[in-house]
Amino acid sequence: MAAGKKKKGPRQAAGLQCSDCKSFGYITEYNKNNEILKKQTTNESTFPLNKFCSVCRKRTAHKLMKKLK
Ligand SMILES: [Zn+2]
Repeated sequence: MAAGKKKKGPRQAAGLQCSDCKSFGYITEYNKNNEILKKQTTNESTFPLNKFCSVCRKRTAHKLMKKLK
C-alpha cells in the first residue's frame, strides 16, 4: 500500500509572458501530463492563453515560459 506516500503529480510551475510587452503577468501551475494528453487527443495546445495584461491594459496572448528564475 502506498498510503502515506506524498503525492507529487507532474505539475509544473510556469510563468506566462505577454506576447505584446514581454512582461510576466502570471505564474501558473499546469499539469504536464494533461497537456501532452490534450495535444495527442485534440491536437490543441493550452498555450498561448488569452489573458488580461495589466501593462497593455487589454487581453493579449500569453506565452508559456518554463524558466522561472
Ligand atoms: Zn502586455
